[in-house]
Amino acid sequence: RREEVPASVHGIDPELVDRRAADVVATLKQAGFAAYIVGGAVRDLLLGLRPKDFDVATDATPEQVKSLFRRAFIIGRRFRIVHVVHGRGREHEVIEVSTFRAYLDNAAAGQVSGNEKTSKAQLSGMQHAVDASGRVLRDNVWGPQDEDATRRDFTINAMYYDPVSQIVVDYHKGLQDARKKTLRMIGEPTLRYREDPVRIIRAVRFAAKLSALGFAIDAKTAAPLRQSQALLADVPQSRMFDEMLKLLQTGHAIATIEQLRKLGLTQGIYPLLDLIVQRADTAFVKAALLDTDRRVSQDKPVAPSFLLACVLWQDVRDGWTERLNQRQYPLPALQDAIDEVFDQRIGDVSGRGKLAADMREIWVMQPRFDKRLGRTPCSMVAQPRFRAGFDFLRLRADVGEVEEALAEWWQDFQAADDERREDLMDQAR
Ligand code: ATP
Ligand code: MG
Repeated sequence: RREEVPASVHGIDPELVDRRAADVVATLKQAGFAAYIVGGAVRDLLLGLRPKDFDVATDATPEQVKSLFRRAFIIGRRFRIVHVVHGRGREHEVIEVSTFRAYLDNAAAGQVSGNEKTSKAQLSGMQHAVDASGRVLRDNVWGPQDEDATRRDFTINAMYYDPVSQIVVDYHKGLQDARKKTLRMIGEPTLRYREDPVRIIRAVRFAAKLSALGFAIDAKTAAPLRQSQALLADVPQSRMFDEMLKLLQTGHAIATIEQLRKLGLTQGIYPLLDLIVQRADTAFVKAALLDTDRRVSQDKPVAPSFLLACVLWQDVRDGWTERLNQRQYPLPALQDAIDEVFDQRIGDVSGRGKLAADMREIWVMQPRFDKRLGRTPCSMVAQPRFRAGFDFLRLRADVGEVEEALAEWWQDFQAADDERREDLMDQAR
């Protein structure tokens, strides 16, 4: 079942391979271990894309890996992996090195959790366990490379590339699926979604990412997606939130919405995502999604606070209007409306405090953009979050919610010197 594919067949361009990752593999091999670039990086290399990060898999234990590199750190409790760090500061790069892990299907995993003397469990001294519904609770059992491949999700995500010999190791016909442009789950899809329901979202993510290259989800992989959705209810909210952001902020937001609709997953994955799908065709949210995709394609940073501020703006405006009608003062009315939206729409997610603060700032700046006199404009421009607030105003102008002239005025004002600013304020009178 193990296939070794030479460069003449797979055609990976060595130029696309990160030098540091290749060095890490070479060092491990010189020390007598097996080591490969693995997972998404191999997939992207095969498709001619430049991978954004490189992971390495090896038969060395984390301690053995750590001992071979000057700056290496063992991290994680559940999955103990090693971060090998190159360079310093902004330029630093982390190569993630993980030890081959065993794959235990439900039956085998049940055996391990019932019988600690199983040899697989002895390998690491740690137990591998599944809960009553078949979900994998722990999988930190070291194992052979073929099992490491089998425990991965999609065939195209389960290949190994040795940058020294330039050989691709393929156990699941990943190369063939890459050629056929098929996203196929390894093993029995229904079971694999049960083991880890996040794979449902990953299927959507890769289908969206690769749709532009002509990929489609294999029918057997797609069929159980809908019925498996309910399993997501047990995934911790913060993980769901992070997965949602990966769907929306990796440059394929529009394609993701399309896939969700095609696959019949427009309801029930995650409340905030359902809402985004629902609003994806409104001018403002659509503009925000397009803008996010464009920014990612230009390597510009994207912030979850900005996109979510766009998605929830409609609710903030409604709540604000309602309170103004009840004769509340404008600013407290806006603050109250924001509090309410936050409580209703954003659950218990990691970094909630900072996210909330950033979204609030963007929203609270909006009415202040109407004030183009006195000291307001200068103090606005001096705010650290001015750019986000202005980008938001820009989108509002793009969809006709405010006058184009207002966005242009602020565009000019922020770039202007003091004298020109005086002129602009005179014009705004
Ligand atoms: P990306 O380019 O978006 O990072 P990726 O394929 O590298 O895509 P990661 O989340 O970085 O995705 O995971 C790295 C690899 O680990 C995957 O390619 C896959 O082999 C394996 N993997 C990750 N998550 C799962 C999962 N939930 N179930 C099975 N295998 C997984
Ligand atoms: Mg990755």
